[in-house]
Amino acid sequence: MNAEIIAVGSELLTPFRTDTNSLYLTEELNQLGVEVIFKSVVGDDFARLVAASQHALFRSDIIVFSGGLGPTEDDLTREAVSEALGAPLHRDEEILAAIERRFAARGWKMSPNNAKQAEVLEGAVVLPNPNGTAPGQWLSGKFDGRERIVILLPGPPHELKALFEEACRERLRAKLPTAFLATRVLKVAMLGESQVDARVAPIYKRFNDVQTTILAGAGEIQLHFKSRAETLQAAQTRVDEAADAVEEELDDAVYSREGQSLEQIVGYWLQMRNATLAVAESCTGGLLGERITSVGGSSRYFAGGAIVYANAVKSELAGVPGEMIERHGAVSREVAAALAEGIRYRCESTLGIGITGVAGPGGGTPNKPVGLVFHALASAGGTEVIERNFPGDRKRIRWFATTLALDMVRRKLM
Ligand code: ATP
Ligand code: MG
Repeated sequence: MNAEIIAVGSELLTPFRTDTNSLYLTEELNQLGVEVIFKSVVGDDFARLVAASQHALFRSDIIVFSGGLGPTEDDLTREAVSEALGAPLHRDEEILAAIERRFAARGWKMSPNNAKQAEVLEGAVVLPNPNGTAPGQWLSGKFDGRERIVILLPGPPHELKALFEEACRERLRAKLPTAFLATRVLKVAMLGESQVDARVAPIYKRFNDVQTTILAGAGEIQLHFKSRAETLQAAQTRVDEAADAVEEELDDAVYSREGQSLEQIVGYWLQMRNATLAVAESCTGGLLGERITSVGGSSRYFAGGAIVYANAVKSELAGVPGEMIERHGAVSREVAAALAEGIRYRCESTLGIGITGVAGPGGGTPNKPVGLVFHALASAGGTEVIERNFPGDRKRIRWFATTLALDMVRRKLM
């Protein structure tokens, strides 16, 4: 079975509110083995809501509405669904009494418009709302000869979630053929999306029953694998086979196989090797330290570091000779290496990282353009420097640079 989600509310069509309910619902439906095939956001407009409902009834098995169940004039989901289904609304006295009691318990008087929330579609099951006044509704049956399930849920996320968990999930499960969903996520560092895609596409072809999604970010690619089967073990086996084949192809570019972040993996390896790390950051301004310390327990392996923006500070805190900066420039292979070695020495750590580059938007020259970054990793065995030209704006360049630096540490310790 497949599903469609319709998020209702004009506020969701502004730049100020995002439809997050559909993300939650998609995850829940996927867990039940149901694929979401359409999602839409519709403003508080009767005709458009009716049209969206009609489309959904035509093409999807399960239609979940979020929002528009409130008491105000612009809450129109019930009315629109009633129109689209040809199922009249009637007032449910029990719900009305429950709403009245809810108000009375708080010492408030119920305003007449709240009675709207007691309107129920003919044939619908009322889903009690543990966190609010507007109950949900569940309607299943044949519409235009097709078996359909229509679910109306309130918009406030804490109401929608509680209602789904308490009154919807099991009811839905009972309607579905037994299917288990297994998932895996592989994360890849510092490879381009097209590079990864070209290498893994032939593998995907061998696994028609495994759904794969590629999500690209700055310096990181996530490969999501999903499979459905009659037993969890069967589903898991297929997902693992596909993920293992991809991992074999991408080799050590895959840094995470259970969803861990690069920062967590770096922390894991540092602890495994009983090693510590220090950083001297110029163009990343502390972002690397922030990423490393975002992991709980990082004090066990992160010694500390310095943000060395001014040349004098590079010398003072990381021991970079002023003469070296003058000769090669602050953004240079030599200075990056000296930063890494200097901070390693100052912090008495196993490893030291130095980053220097041009994050932009200004400050680029023909020889040293915006995006040029030198990353150095110093250890007892010597110092390694990687030079890269990153694309994108300041934010992306800084993110790329810290990702590459973290990946250098990972590769060194693996
Ligand atoms: P009520 O009017 O009784 O609060 P409702 O079902 O009519 O309930 P809405 O008026 O549509 O719900 O939304 C209430 C609140 O929930 C708003 O703050 C809105 O921004 C938030 N909300 C609604 N829909 C979504 C959504 N899809 N994702 C995230 N937040 C939402
Ligand atoms: Mg609304």
